[in-house]
Amino acid sequence: MGRLQKILIPFLGLVLAFWFYSARDTFKPEMLRGKRVIVTGASTGIGEQMAYHLARMGSHILVTARTEARLQNVVRRCLELGAASARFVSGTMEDTAFAQHVVREAQTSLALWPPVILLQCHSPGFHQPSAGDPAALATAAMGHGSEMLQPSSMWSAPSPSPAHRQLRGGLDMLILNHVGASYFGFFDGDVEHVRKLLEINFLSYVAMTTSALPMLKESEGSIVVVSSMAGKVGFPFTVPYSATKFALDGFFSSLRQEFTIQSINVSITLCILGFIDTERAVRAAAEVLQERPAPRDECALEILKGAALRRRELYYRYSSTRLPLLLRDCAAELLDYLVRSRYRLPAAPGAPRPPH
Ligand code: NAP
Repeated sequence: MGRLQKILIPFLGLVLAFWFYSARDTFKPEMLRGKRVIVTGASTGIGEQMAYHLARMGSHILVTARTEARLQNVVRRCLELGAASARFVSGTMEDTAFAQHVVREAQTSLALWPPVILLQCHSPGFHQPSAGDPAALATAAMGHGSEMLQPSSMWSAPSPSPAHRQLRGGLDMLILNHVGASYFGFFDGDVEHVRKLLEINFLSYVAMTTSALPMLKESEGSIVVVSSMAGKVGFPFTVPYSATKFALDGFFSSLRQEFTIQSINVSITLCILGFIDTERAVRAAAEVLQERPAPRDECALEILKGAALRRRELYYRYSSTRLPLLLRDCAAELLDYLVRSRYRLPAAPGAPRPPH
């Protein structure tokens, strides 16, 4: 056999294997229809866009963040777009107990049937109106921690079929996306800030995962962890933020190994994002970064596709994340140089803390 054939045959084998693998894994929006999904950090940015995509696909959605007024708008929009149900819980992820509370909400309420269960009240002292009082329901549906269902199903209560009767609260997908505010500039030595950011960006992710695991094991569901290029390679001016994102990689990649050893069929998708055009990111970095941000709605859809296909890692955009990372093992200093060259350096170190 000639040398060319020796190379060509394995190469063709690889191409065929790649083609087969890709053809098998085609995303269809139906994959997420009726799925019960928590999206954290969904009051703005990429999380908000993920909620809207999920709504169009007909998922049951529980969104969370701190700002109640924004969450109300997100829930309202989700219902307009076709969500099977949408509700919110507001609070801060600085508090581990709140992170666990959000998961318990999913346990008791996501995808409950029949739809006459219009609203669940979670604030102490909150008055739950009766199902026969449309005005009170409409008002209360906007309250803290409330559930809002599609208007079409609001006032009707069809008898549940036996299959529906078996539906209970539960969880198919946990999307961990929220991020605490940090500063943009040289590391200032503030250890307390690093600790606080670790609590929001890392420990709350661990707490939610731990609480959600029994439900995810039952549904053979998915965990989606939204990270960053800054969690794969050192980035200047975001030292505390980068540290929290590296921690996510360490925790969730190790957990994935243990799931495999224990035959736990829960997928973990780590999302490595480049610069995205969310308000916060543009406000903090547009002046100093020499690249155009990618659109947040497209980014959100790519994350959901990767999650539905149970990918281990998702890179968006591929050209500004996966490709440079190929240099990490063979030319680390070149990669460091490329990262630094993204910045207009004179402006960066003195840049003020982002306002939120
Ligand atoms: P964003 O627009 O600032 O949204 C952050 C979300 O987190 C908001 O909903 C915010 O809502 C919530 N949040 C902030 N502090 C919180 C707290 N203490 N407790 C609970 N929720 C809190 O951010 P984004 O740009 O969409 O980023 C989303 C994810 O993508 C993050 O994990 C980020 O690291 C990652 N990422 C983004 C970029 C980018 O360029 N945009 C690049 C790489 C990676 P409230 O203020 O109402 O609480």
